[in-house]
Amino acid sequence: MTKDLKSPQDWKPATRLVHGGSIRSQFGEMSEALFLTQGFVYPDMESAEARFKGDDPGFIYARYGSPTAAMFEQRMCLLEGAEAGRSTASGMAAVTGALMGQLKAGDHIVAAKALFGSCRYVVEDLMPRFGVPCTLVDGTDYAQWQAAMRPNTKVLFLESPTNPQLEIIDIRRVADIAHAGRARLVVDNVFATPLLQSPLQLGADCVVYSATKHIDGQGRCLAGMILGSEKFINDHVHNFLRQTGPSVSPFNAWVMLKGLETLPVRVERQMQSATRIADFLAAQPHVERVLYPTRKDHPQHEIAMKQMRGGGTIVAFDIKGAKPEAFRFANALSIIKISNNIGDAKSIVTHPATTTHQRIGPEARAEIGIGDGLLRLSVGLEDCDDLIADIEAGLAAI
Ligand SMILES: *Cc1c(COP(=O)(O)O)cnc(C)c1O
Repeated sequence: MTKDLKSPQDWKPATRLVHGGSIRSQFGEMSEALFLTQGFVYPDMESAEARFKGDDPGFIYARYGSPTAAMFEQRMCLLEGAEAGRSTASGMAAVTGALMGQLKAGDHIVAAKALFGSCRYVVEDLMPRFGVPCTLVDGTDYAQWQAAMRPNTKVLFLESPTNPQLEIIDIRRVADIAHAGRARLVVDNVFATPLLQSPLQLGADCVVYSATKHIDGQGRCLAGMILGSEKFINDHVHNFLRQTGPSVSPFNAWVMLKGLETLPVRVERQMQSATRIADFLAAQPHVERVLYPTRKDHPQHEIAMKQMRGGGTIVAFDIKGAKPEAFRFANALSIIKISNNIGDAKSIVTHPATTTHQRIGPEARAEIGIGDGLLRLSVGLEDCDDLIADIEAGLAAI
């Protein structure tokens, strides 16, 4: 029997990422068009009235939605298997929108301690200012999640694998704790990418992305995405984003839309190199410890194998001799750049203790296992032999 390929639902992920969500104009352009417009013209007054009333689904104003952003959203929904999604100006706009949109004074958040620095600011500093306190827990200790639940707990928030030490949290287990307490689970899925982990299928109610990372994949633009059920997006996200305005620019949405077309080949290739580099690092005398989810020595290896389809493109490792030796190693690299993006075509090394996680202080860092010797390596698209030679040169400088 031949397969019916009329609907994107019948396509495999790679096909969805090339063709899904395309809206062609009357010119029949091959590559998706960049609609750089603030607003839209109505054919008559009745149409304007119908659009504002919501009877006609056409576009009104770019802060509310625009054709290029809509294509990006539709393609992301098809990839994630989500009913609905909304794009934002950055990953942090997505995180803030997903949380603020569903919370009000008197509610309570439970979040894993090991979060991206700015996410931690949002739950730990910002939300309490609006009457929403937050309890931080060790994300891998499920008794702590359970014990932190209060009658007014509305949202549980986590990231897995975590930044930067790639800790894996059992998403299904935390989703069950959330739902038993009538709360919702929001997952920041940046490190896994939508290709390697599907939090909605594991029970999460909402998934957020920084598209700035692997989805762009070439370090050009910022954007974010919030995905969930039609009901979740309509009830909690739609109006909040429309009225507060963290909208993605059409140009950035277009870059992301095109980035999605090559996402599977890039992630696959970067992951192959990351796996090889993790094994190489583990055999080096100057390396204390390597963290990579699909390695058997990863502390949450079993959960990683259960909920992920691959280990990802990032490797974390501790250099013996802490900060001085970690700095010597990184300063001796030529191809791998010192920066703080991840998922880029260019390989990037980061020293979290002095950069992304400087703000939280040494005690909070120690609590989540970020030592002064920890380095995060985002593996890019360079030839893996060159990357390993570069790492060898860095190790020789120690
Ligand atoms: C980068 C990142 C963010 C924030 O994304 P921006 O696009 O920089 O705003 C949020 N969460 C994680 C895990 C990230 O890596």
